[in-house]
Amino acid sequence: MKFYNTLTRQKAEFTPMRSDGQVRIYSCGPTVYGYAHIGNMRTYLFMDFLRRALQWNGYTLLHAMNITDVGHLVSDGDSGEDKMNKTAREQKKTPWEIAEYYTSVFMRDIKRLNIQVPEIVPKATEHIPEMISFVEGLIEKGYGYETSDGIYYDIKKFKDYGRLSRMNFDENQAGARVEVNSEKRHPADFALWKKADPTHIMQWPSPWGMGYPGWHIECSAMGLKYLGEEFDIHTGGVDHIPIHHENEIAQTCGLLGHPAARWWMHGEFMLVDGGKMSKSLGNTYTLDQLKEKGYSPMVFRYFCLNAHYRQKLNFTFDGMDSAKKSLRNLKSLVEKHKGADGKVEKETLERLLAEFSDAVNDDLNIPKALGVVWNAARNEVKSNDIYELILKCDKILGLGLGAPDPEETDVTENAVDPALAKDVEEQIALRAAAKKAKNYAEADRIRNELAAKGIILTDTPQGTTWKKG
Ligand code: AMP
Ligand code: ZN
Repeated sequence: MKFYNTLTRQKAEFTPMRSDGQVRIYSCGPTVYGYAHIGNMRTYLFMDFLRRALQWNGYTLLHAMNITDVGHLVSDGDSGEDKMNKTAREQKKTPWEIAEYYTSVFMRDIKRLNIQVPEIVPKATEHIPEMISFVEGLIEKGYGYETSDGIYYDIKKFKDYGRLSRMNFDENQAGARVEVNSEKRHPADFALWKKADPTHIMQWPSPWGMGYPGWHIECSAMGLKYLGEEFDIHTGGVDHIPIHHENEIAQTCGLLGHPAARWWMHGEFMLVDGGKMSKSLGNTYTLDQLKEKGYSPMVFRYFCLNAHYRQKLNFTFDGMDSAKKSLRNLKSLVEKHKGADGKVEKETLERLLAEFSDAVNDDLNIPKALGVVWNAARNEVKSNDIYELILKCDKILGLGLGAPDPEETDVTENAVDPALAKDVEEQIALRAAAKKAKNYAEADRIRNELAAKGIILTDTPQGTTWKKG
């Protein structure tokens, strides 16, 4: 398998660290202060393709994805209110109630998207002691220092700071991006622990008084606890490269003297109508909102697997419409192979499987792999062997190609009910045969009989299509 490593900016052969075939992964999880939007979901779909690809290659997984329920401030830096605190205040609930509600919606939504749930899903608030001892370790090793409002990481002590993002953190440049706190030794020094003022609802006792963790420390501490001092792959969205992941590396290297993750893999952003997704533009859709508009989560999954994870993906409703049609067409093609007794050469099946595997193993080229599945589905000879092959490939695609979509709501178009579709296709074939035999009365009878059932036929140069009227 080849993956692109953000650290080296290169694709290289992936070999797992451990000899027992287990691959260990850490993924930055959601901040549960609101509904996850479809952009967030794109990043978790990428995580899911990675999981499935590793399993496809015979590896077992130990994968942790955290739930950020404290410490992520409204800016990605160290200023502003804690996102959890802010929502709790606005909704007149406790931050714990907010976290519980949005965590459960998130877990429900990733399952609707057929995203495999990682083996470990730890919450930041349940790991405060681990974070405190991590920070104590950093102070002991000379990387952490105290100010009047918290404990900060001294980036100048870590010579590799900026390596992941390839940014140069000299005094002048960095100050523009990070707010200036006069007690900090460098403007880009970041909070490991914040001392809490009384309005901050979530706070815990620490050697530095009551307070709460900085955002980045949770991932370093939980990664260490669940995956050990070194693990294989760390994932997240590209926005995490310059701050969050740079800081995670600095923390881990500070405490352990070496990095934890060997591979850093990042999912590119989803845009909406070519621009940024943002609440103020009203374009941050949730899965429920897509469903209200007639698109099931599986259609969104299909939409996402048409773009490589390192490419920006522009979300449009036109794109969703064609994803919806394509998914239906693909499923009805697949259905035709089910139980069919046509013969397909063993070499053809092997070639298709090899092409599919090669695409998956080439840095998760899922769009290419999907193309192979389409080729297989379009095979002239209908054969159950093709059906089996496609279901095997669906272990990666995760589209549920052999089953009805549990969230399909729109019943006005073709191929909704596979049994009905099969019946209509048979009638169309009989009608074509009747026309060929110049038996126009029979052809018309079939057309009228279908029309009585609400099925409308359209004859095109490529053949007859149908829809429910
Ligand atoms: P958050 O809940 O804000 O911590 O974000 C959860 C995940 O979604 C992170 O891995 C982000 O990098 C990712 N993310 C945020 N916005 C987008 C977007 N527009 N497209 C893709 N991923 C995103
Ligand atoms: Zn993280």
